[in-house]
Amino acid sequence: MSDHRLGDVIDDHCIKCRRLTNHSIVSIVDLEPAKVRCRSCYHDHDYRHEQAPPTKKELKQQELFRQVLASLGPVAAGAEPEPESEAIAPSAKPKRAKKS
Ligand SMILES: [Zn+2]
Repeated sequence: MSDHRLGDVIDDHCIKCRRLTNHSIVSIVDLEPAKVRCRSCYHDHDYRHEQAPPTKKELKQQELFRQVLASLGPVAAGAEPEPESEAIAPSAKPKRAKKS
């Protein structure tokens, strides 16, 4: 873990420039950059750890994914499958049909 100091230049994603740009640290919390200022457009924003914010399209996909999970019921939400589910599972090895 590197020490950050106010005024240090670090990379971060700028939502105005929509790309990774140089940023100056303007605020530090718990030794981590909290607020940064884009060196290209001087826009202040929270430090994003170089991660681009999710796009509207990605947010929509996440919402759809949650809806699908909800429609599948508690099993899809991480609950243990019922023991009976093994009985109805198709066997891995197909049985050979005997020729008569
Ligand atoms: Zn910028």
